[in-house]
Amino acid sequence: MEKIILVRYEEIFLKGLNKSTFENKLIMNIKERLNPLAPVRVTRSQSRIYVEFQEPDVDMEEAILRLGKIFGIASVSPVVKVPADFDVIKEKTLTFIDDLLKRKAYKTFKVEAKRGDKKFPLNSPQICAELGAHILRNFQKLKVDVHNPDFVFYVDVREDAYLYCEIIPGAKGLPTGTGGKATLLLSGGIDSPVAGWMVAKRGVELEAVYFHSYPYTSDRARDKVVTLAEKLSEWCPGIKLHVVPFTDIQLKINEKCPHEYITIIMRRYMMKIAERIARKSGSLGLVTGEAIGQVASQTMESMLVTNDAATLPVYRPLVGMDKNEVIEIAKKIDTYDTSILPYEDCCTVFVAKHPVTRPSLERTREYEKALDEEILIEEALNNTETIKVS
Ligand code: ATP
Ligand code: MG
Repeated sequence: MEKIILVRYEEIFLKGLNKSTFENKLIMNIKERLNPLAPVRVTRSQSRIYVEFQEPDVDMEEAILRLGKIFGIASVSPVVKVPADFDVIKEKTLTFIDDLLKRKAYKTFKVEAKRGDKKFPLNSPQICAELGAHILRNFQKLKVDVHNPDFVFYVDVREDAYLYCEIIPGAKGLPTGTGGKATLLLSGGIDSPVAGWMVAKRGVELEAVYFHSYPYTSDRARDKVVTLAEKLSEWCPGIKLHVVPFTDIQLKINEKCPHEYITIIMRRYMMKIAERIARKSGSLGLVTGEAIGQVASQTMESMLVTNDAATLPVYRPLVGMDKNEVIEIAKKIDTYDTSILPYEDCCTVFVAKHPVTRPSLERTREYEKALDEEILIEEALNNTETIKVS
């Protein structure tokens, strides 16, 4: 009996995309993520992917965890592969269930069979009936319950037969690398890591920009953002994080612009700088964690003014979400605990007491003229530090 992990992906995603490009990318991503664990063979057959480790003592739990963070996977099942011969299937079924009952106190079951290979002498209902009876004969304590069983015993007969009882949901989405690249404005807050994750889920690679206002924001605040980028890179590997020194720009804005406009102008500078970095890296869009109405700088009027500072599309995947919905995802992707660490972010240091909630674009542009934009931006870019996160 070989221990294998069956990986399923959803056909629906293949419609618009080139199917083999999609599959090849997914297979490559699986290899990259699992090979550090143990040498792995990844094969494809009939729109499914099979992962086989070349070593016997592999930490299967860790392998499943890693697969759970690969976008494009709909679900996975640890399976036992046996020859498609009904006598062998019957024998191995007993071993499988014996093994299972050592770990779980299951009392009821049902059998679900699928026959992919029509040459197999029994059809699906016959496989279910015969195997069910065989299990009942051999395990006196088990009973059949077709409506609410403790476990389902799945038998999939193809060129070989696969036995399994677990279907573990995957990350869904599309394989990383099939959707171009985007630049995420990553703060230390709750929202932006979630926004990045949501875009990454669609197969998009990420690059991240963090505006650091040292010494108003501490090195701990910066480390927190690095940690968040690391956590995101578990889902989409190879993130580059650009740490942009932002203090001089903020001081200048503070000094030269009307107080109620400093936040919106600061946000425009973030966009302008992120856009320059994005264009250099081949990113096709910017991503932020904004949601309509969350704070003064996220009203429709404010976002219009912010958007005006960038020419690349700005993706705001949280736009219609409530904070609680965002928090739920942040917990699921394990960024929440890092995000709520109490280190100040740049926006809490240079905050307007009464920020405009309906900024005027004309006035914003007018006020900005007091700043040496090109010099400020050049200076910030020249002193940007780039960290390759892993
Ligand atoms: P978050 O929880 O992501 O920090 P927020 O609710 O605190 O968001 P703002 O601080 O107004 O909202 O920021 C809105 C968005 O602007 C953030 O989601 C993020 O994309 C970007 N942003 C804010 N501050 C920074 C920063 N210091 N560096 C990079 N991006 C930032
Ligand atoms: Mg914030």
